[in-house]
Amino acid sequence: MNYTSPSSRPGGLRLHLNENTAGCSPAVLAALQSMQRTSASEYPDYAWLTEQCERYFRVDPGFVQITNGLDEGLHVMAQAAKLSRPDFDAIVVEPAFEMYAACIAAVGGRQVTVPPMAGLGFPIEAVIAAISHRTRLIYLCDPNNPSGLAIPREHVRRVADAAPQAMVLVDEAYADFSGRTMVPLLDRHRNVVVGRTFAKAHGLAALRVGALIAHPSTLMPIRRILPPFSVNICAAIALRAAMADRAYVDWYVEEARQSRELIYAWCRDHGIPYWPSEGNFVLVNVGNAAKACVEALAVREIHIRDKTGTPGCEGCIRITAGLVEDTKQCLAAMEEWYATRGN
Ligand SMILES: *Cc1c(COP(=O)(O)O)cnc(C)c1O
Repeated sequence: MNYTSPSSRPGGLRLHLNENTAGCSPAVLAALQSMQRTSASEYPDYAWLTEQCERYFRVDPGFVQITNGLDEGLHVMAQAAKLSRPDFDAIVVEPAFEMYAACIAAVGGRQVTVPPMAGLGFPIEAVIAAISHRTRLIYLCDPNNPSGLAIPREHVRRVADAAPQAMVLVDEAYADFSGRTMVPLLDRHRNVVVGRTFAKAHGLAALRVGALIAHPSTLMPIRRILPPFSVNICAAIALRAAMADRAYVDWYVEEARQSRELIYAWCRDHGIPYWPSEGNFVLVNVGNAAKACVEALAVREIHIRDKTGTPGCEGCIRITAGLVEDTKQCLAAMEEWYATRGN
C-alpha cells in the first residue's frame, strides 16, 4: 500500500501536534465530496454511525458515545464529576496532556497533581495515595502524551478498584499506534471510561470526532450533559469512511513505527536520551539546548514541540513521528542544528 504525500505544506512541516502528516485517507475526501444537499440541511442521525463505531471497537450496543473530538469527551467527564460533587477533586498524573487541567479548571474542580516519577513511568503507588473521598475523576493517558510510555493494564485496574466513587478516564488517543486498549476492562470495571480520537492515526483532527467507550449505565449521566448534535455531518461522514479504510491506518501506523526507529537511531548516534514511545511521537531530552533547537528548526519551517515547561520534561522536545520522508527531513535539520550549536 502506498499513498502520495501532501504536495505542498503551507506554513511548513508540522511535527508539534502529533497530527497525521500524510492527511486523511483518500476515501474520506471522496465521501465528503459525495455529500447530498440535504445532508447539510437535516439534523444528523447518529444511530448508524454509533453502531459502526461499536463494531469497530468490538463492544456491545450502547457502549459508544461519539463526541466532537476527544476534547469534548474530556470536558464532559469534568462536567459529570462536577454534577456528582460540586467540590470534587480530580487527579492528574504528570507529565500530562494540558487539556486535563483546563477541563478541571473550566468547571471549578480542584486538581490533585501526582508529580512525575524519575524516568516518567506510571507512579501507581502515588496515584493510589492521591485518591480521597472527594475524588470523582482521574485522568490517565495510555500511551502517555508526552512520554509515550504505557500504563500496565493491571495498574488501571488497581486505580479503578481503589476509587469506586470516581470515574477513571483512560485517554487512548494513541491506541492505534500502541495496539493496546483497556476496552476489555469495561464490563467488569464500570467506573472506567475509555476515550478515543480519530484525529491522530485517522487524520481527522480538523473534522473533530472522537468517542467515549464505557458501560451503558456509566455513559447515561454523560449523555444527559452532551448537546444532542455536537458531531457535525461532515465529521460523521468522514468517520464512516475512515473506519472502513483500515488499510490506510495500518499503512500509517507502520510509517510512524519506522519514523520512531529513525529518531531513536539519531538520538543514540548523538548520545541524546529519549523515551521509547508507543505513540506517533518521541520525547527527546536535548538538555539546555531545547529552546534553541526548537527555534533553529522553526527557521527551517519545521515545527516541533518545546516541552520544557511540562513537569518531568525539563530539557525536552517532542517530535511527531509521521511519514518516514517527513522524519528524514526533520532529522536532517536536527543534524544541521547539532553541528552548529554552541557548546
Ligand atoms: C490529541 C489528543 C487529544 C485530542 O483529541 P481530539 O479528538 O483532537 O480532541 C486527546 N488526548 C490526547 C492525549 C491527545 O494527544
